[in-house]
Amino acid sequence: MSLILLWITLLLPGCKFFSAAESKTPIIVFTFDDQHLSIYESAFLIMREFGYRGTNFVNTNAMGLPGLMNWAQITELELDYGWETGGHTLNHEALNQLDYDVAIANIIQDRQNLSDHGLNPRSFALPRGQCPSQLYPLLTGLYQNIRGSSDFAMHHPLNRKALGYLAYQSGWPSDIVKRRIQRGIANQEALIIIGFHHFDTAGDDYADSCPSPTFREILQYTQDLGLTVLPLAEAVSQ
Ligand SMILES: [Zn+2]
Repeated sequence: MSLILLWITLLLPGCKFFSAAESKTPIIVFTFDDQHLSIYESAFLIMREFGYRGTNFVNTNAMGLPGLMNWAQITELELDYGWETGGHTLNHEALNQLDYDVAIANIIQDRQNLSDHGLNPRSFALPRGQCPSQLYPLLTGLYQNIRGSSDFAMHHPLNRKALGYLAYQSGWPSDIVKRRIQRGIANQEALIIIGFHHFDTAGDDYADSCPSPTFREILQYTQDLGLTVLPLAEAVSQ
């Protein structure tokens, strides 16, 4: 590298030469779907221990139902603790199983409900990972970031309208998630989204429940590796 190029590089820390190593470390995003109360009672407290903030994807017609977070808790997480609240439709119905008129109303009213509560919805998670192509322009017009439900490697430039994620499954040891993160680091992925639903619940109804100790092990691992953890909208804006 010539002296002049080196000088320019040092003057412009955001340029490719200087930031290459930095940009090759994946940013970690933890998402929490379907406003389960255990997210508020368990995961939020553990996230706070580590100084991490996450993204909730919520169904606004289900706020405050038994076992689910209410509006006060959701708005507290965003407005007081810097979490993100994303859209997930009114009732969690798969969009490809609804008449388009109904699906459109579901998406628009859900986003309006979030805005009416002073929230700033920028991300959307597809319920059950499904979306008819006819509805995609509406979603991408309303939201900057769309998360599906399959896990794949995401590299720069990120396709913010088609993001994947690894959904934690009940019974998984933390090693499964740790290995996913290791692979992302080895492959120089830009972003790894890891998603959770319930915490500390057992039984057939909770096929996607994560024990608090396992969740803490995962967060400890990201912290030990010095990885950056951000809500989704902030992570994809980096
Ligand atoms: Zn969901």
